[in-house]
Amino acid sequence: MSTSAAAIRRYRSRSLWLDQLPDLQVRPALAGDDDAEVVIVGAGLTGLWCAYHLLEATPRRRVVVLEAETAGFGASGRNGGWCSALFPLSWPRVARLHGAAEARALYAALCDVVAEVGAVCRREGIDAGYHRGGTLTLARTPAQRDRIRAGLAADAELGLDTGTWLDPPEVERRLRVPGVLGAAFTPHCARLNPAVLVRGLARAVERRGGVVHDRSPVREVSPGRVRTPLGTVRAEHVVLATEAYTVRFRELHRRVLPVWSLMVATEPLPESFFAEVGWAGCETLTDGRHLVIYAQRTPDDRIAFGGRGAPYHFGSRITDAYDRHDPTFASLRAALAELFPALGDARTTHAWGGPLGVPRDWHPSVGYAPTSRIGWARGYVGDGVAAAALAGATLADLVDGRDTGRTRLCWVQHRSPDWEPEPLRWLGVNLAARAAATLDHLEARGRDLALLRRGLEGLTGA
Ligand SMILES: Cc1cc2nc3c(=O)[nH]c(=O)nc-3n(C[C@H](O)[C@H](O)[C@H](O)COP(=O)(O)OP(=O)(O)OC[C@H]3O[C@@H](n4cnc5c(N)ncnc54)[C@H](O)[C@@H]3O)c2cc1C
Repeated sequence: MSTSAAAIRRYRSRSLWLDQLPDLQVRPALAGDDDAEVVIVGAGLTGLWCAYHLLEATPRRRVVVLEAETAGFGASGRNGGWCSALFPLSWPRVARLHGAAEARALYAALCDVVAEVGAVCRREGIDAGYHRGGTLTLARTPAQRDRIRAGLAADAELGLDTGTWLDPPEVERRLRVPGVLGAAFTPHCARLNPAVLVRGLARAVERRGGVVHDRSPVREVSPGRVRTPLGTVRAEHVVLATEAYTVRFRELHRRVLPVWSLMVATEPLPESFFAEVGWAGCETLTDGRHLVIYAQRTPDDRIAFGGRGAPYHFGSRITDAYDRHDPTFASLRAALAELFPALGDARTTHAWGGPLGVPRDWHPSVGYAPTSRIGWARGYVGDGVAAAALAGATLADLVDGRDTGRTRLCWVQHRSPDWEPEPLRWLGVNLAARAAATLDHLEARGRDLALLRRGLEGLTGA
């Protein structure tokens, strides 16, 4: 099947990263019925890491990946490119749920996988601009400073080294941003170009004998069988790797909530800009506000800058139109200019967004049901780049029945409650976003609404 120029334009327009690919080739769709040992639904990072590890364990076995659009079309080709050991729940909350030793084991596995992603990029010739410069979490208000320091202390009490506190002069040696009261630094993060990673993985899967079909939307999943409009794949094992898009399967509709994260990217910036702000270490960058922002210095010296705040859409609907929300783009541009006054008139050349999957308890999970032989991993909120690599490797272990350190991690077989029916979801989620923005606004003016803050922290577990 040839793919029209309009479809390629649509794929490129999903993100800076997809737009920058020198060629965006779309693979043939599944045409007719097929048999496989494992069929994977979704060619994002979760699905492709799972395929990669299955084929690493047993090369040339029959692994088929079915993708509704093209590899990396979802969050995996659009994200902020933080390959980090972050987890959506705070570690004390993970420890309360599963025990301190389990929290430590999961954190250690996430730290290891940050390095492992870099090793695979080198081994497979994936030139994703992987650079392990760590993360700076800036404190720019006293409330942010107190919150960040309290978080580091609580993690340290559990025996987790999630960062070191830097006083303003130490921050300035790395990065010069106005109004900084200090920062937490962790080495466990690499910036990368996510579209190059996900599409490079698809090629690595194919080199090992796996098959990837683009433009093959799965309409129905049942034990041993998945159906697309043009054919059915029968397989011993089925893996669902559809993250936010999981809501499109009627029976799984309330398992996650599709929440949009939006991004803008500047044009490549001149040396004079970096002479003024520093940032030679290419640390990924955020601060302590509630309505998350995140930035990276890209391999081609742009700033890719993202954040939350775009609305949730009634009924968990997902369409291309929701990837753009002008008020959120305007807030992102304003936040970027405020952090980096040295940008002056620099243009933003790209603005995009995408849905990520949020479980009701903000707890990502990996699972496999031995009776139906259906596996899944989902619900990474905004922390899925490294986590999907760990989840994909774990799914491969589960499918093959291997009992490994990975399969004993506390997110395996975790079951999140379902989201409430509408209109409760719509009301609750949009109110929470409004509350986060209000808290940030008050904190920037030296005020706090402790009750609202505790309510929000209770809801998100962050
Ligand atoms: C703007 C943005 C910024 C982010 N920034 C970061 C970051 O910096 N660091 C980080 O760790 N995380 C980040 N995230 C989250 C991270 O990108 C995701 O958690 C991760 O990519 C999830 O990978 P996935 O493969 O599970 O899902 P996806 O990448 O969403 O892949 C799912 C795939 O399944 C396909 N699909 C869906 N339904 C079907 C079907 N019925 N049949 C066939 N195929 C189907 C989709 O087309 C899609 O390609 C961000 C997300 C967004 C949107």
